Amino acid sequence: MDSPEHTIEVEKLYKRYGKVEAVNGISFKVAKGQIVGFLGPNGAGKSTTMKILTGYSRATSGIARICGIPVACHAHEIKRRIGYMPENNPLPLELRVREYLKWRARLKELPFRHRGKRIDEVMERCDLTRAQDRIIGKLSKGFRQRVGIADAILAHPEVIIMDEPTIGLDPHQVIMIRDLISSLQGKMSVIISSHILSEIEMTCDEVIIINHGKIVGQGTPQELRESFINSTIYELEINGSLADLRQSLKTLAANLDVDKFEEADERGFSKVTIRIPGNHDYGEMLFSCLSDNPLIRARSLRKRQAPLEDVFLAATRRSWETLDTDLAEHSESEDSDSEKTEMPAAN
Ligand code: ATP
Repeated sequence: MDSPEHTIEVEKLYKRYGKVEAVNGISFKVAKGQIVGFLGPNGAGKSTTMKILTGYSRATSGIARICGIPVACHAHEIKRRIGYMPENNPLPLELRVREYLKWRARLKELPFRHRGKRIDEVMERCDLTRAQDRIIGKLSKGFRQRVGIADAILAHPEVIIMDEPTIGLDPHQVIMIRDLISSLQGKMSVIISSHILSEIEMTCDEVIIINHGKIVGQGTPQELRESFINSTIYELEINGSLADLRQSLKTLAANLDVDKFEEADERGFSKVTIRIPGNHDYGEMLFSCLSDNPLIRARSLRKRQAPLEDVFLAATRRSWETLDTDLAEHSESEDSDSEKTEMPAAN
């Protein structure tokens, strides 16, 4: 029954809430052991897609399969294979950490004789051992997020789905959770949604950008850059005026952008960026243009990757104009299917 290559398969998935198409015909696959990042502006449909994948919400139409098993008809079976950390990570605040994980292990039908050892292992992995006897309601947000992750990986699931696992954490905790997610690479298939684009770039093999319920970009961060960003950026440290720099670069490209992003230091060198249309290596030509101009002295030259933010903005910009209509429609539609504060079932 297991799909040989892909643990997650989604085909033409739709979810409608009244007039709002929260998920609008998306299809994608995630390979075994792959980490995929879900990016999208607020209301794009990320959480809705995740809830459908985990059997927590039903799709209006389309198919979602986990390890080859259709989620809609075998919700109980797929829950054994998924570890889910929902948005806002609802937890029973009155329980102690170990007590909670024991309860979850029982729900997840982990064999009794393995439970204690496995709970020790996940607590160790999530740096929770010292907090095992503490009441969840008295833990900091970072510790609670770790409890959510410990729960998600507890039963060795093949698929992990985490909805904004690092939201509200301080930079130390973000790094810790990022490392934890990276350590799952090759072992479990993971989908994480996040608004922290640098984090997605550091942890994920592939990125899926969703906007208005549709996939607007998909690929490795590098592939996305190539398809959405048609320019090459260099960072330079120069001693000289921007006007002279522009003059010396005019043979390189007609419409390049030159911007100063750091004022001159005590030796008169300031940092500038040059954005040249096209995806090429202009390094050698830049050196040659600069050395031909005696009014410009260059101290360093470095090619810079376009930030993932630029890719995200380019990919989502196309459908912004429909946002007003979407919001107007949404305000009319309410749905009883509001599961946001409930506890997840066994997964
Ligand atoms: P965020 O980044 O803000 O969490 P998201 O990408 O996860 O956003 P979803 O929560 O999936 O977005 O919401 C997609 C759309 O569906 C939004 O327009 C949202 O308001 C709507 N929606 C989500 N849940 C419900 C519900 N239970 N009833 C009605 N509309 C809903």
